[in-house]
Amino acid sequence: MKLADLGEFGLIDRIASRIPSQSGVVLGIGDDAAALLPTPGCLTLITSDMLIEGVHFDLGFTDPASLGRKSLAVNLSDLAAMGATPRQFLLGLALPAGVSLEFVDGFLDGLIEMAHRFDTVLVGGDTCASKGGISISITALGEQRPERVLKRSGAQPGDLVLVTGTVGDAAAGLRQLFAGVRQGGLVRRQLDPEPRVAAGGALADAGLVHAMIDVSDGVLADLTHICDLSGVGARIDLARLPLSEAYRALEQQDPYALALTGGEDYELLFTVAPEKEAAVTELLARVGTPFAVIGAITAGTRVEAVAPDGSPYHPTRAGFDHFG
Ligand code: ADP
Ligand code: MG
Repeated sequence: MKLADLGEFGLIDRIASRIPSQSGVVLGIGDDAAALLPTPGCLTLITSDMLIEGVHFDLGFTDPASLGRKSLAVNLSDLAAMGATPRQFLLGLALPAGVSLEFVDGFLDGLIEMAHRFDTVLVGGDTCASKGGISISITALGEQRPERVLKRSGAQPGDLVLVTGTVGDAAAGLRQLFAGVRQGGLVRRQLDPEPRVAAGGALADAGLVHAMIDVSDGVLADLTHICDLSGVGARIDLARLPLSEAYRALEQQDPYALALTGGEDYELLFTVAPEKEAAVTELLARVGTPFAVIGAITAGTRVEAVAPDGSPYHPTRAGFDHFG
């Protein structure tokens, strides 16, 4: 059965029938707009990300459920980077009429699974036919108290630079996909990223962090975003970059290039005053999130990487830029 057999409103009904209720949702899917009840004393954080077939995903690489999970995960990662708690989201879908219902249901399975895990619900969206490929646009809403929201702009000279998890895996996974590999940890990191929602919220609630961003364009590019908005520079010690075993095994020639410039890791990159390192260690252990100190914020505006032998390192590729 194809989407064309179901029709636009059949599809919307099919989606709506699977969405649970939530205390913050006064009116969900079905009316001209959704009505939401904010948590008293909280700001609403709102973010949007598009996934375009042929640009962000390839149906030869991903299965529908992973695509559904990733579509929401990349948005949840942006909320996590602000220290926000996910609440609701909107789903924009442009689908060719020939798409199979099997694809649609698989996509919804993944999307709804991710939503359930992070306690967020779908409250509306838009659906239209596509003459080209599939386009997915999600707008996610989260909440946080105003004084706890974590911005990119608060980094101070002397701060430590930290990153959760390991970096470079998603880009290495993409390389593997292009080389014909279809499974393994690196491929999973590319197709099925895990947003650091618990860590982002806990760091914000504890008031420990000066500036935070999620790693979507690569550590170097994303640290540069923090530095630009904070009016500071930074030094990255390459020897301290957290690299997975699988990544090291694959990237033996230059283990730093992809780790610095590969995108889509969806880890959290943040700065804290050096005296807060112990508190951060304790807090991230409590939420079960590994991390590494990878450098420091400096006065000035340059972002430099230093190789293990102390020499300056210049990556051969830049971070991800859609028009670059
Ligand atoms: P309108 O014509 O007023 O924009 P629509 O027919 O586009 O309304 O949508 C009808 C209802 O279905 C709205 O509540 C809308 O939010 C919801 N909706 C449409 N597409 C989606 C989707 N892809 N996911 C979730 N809800 C959707
Ligand atoms: Mg509409």
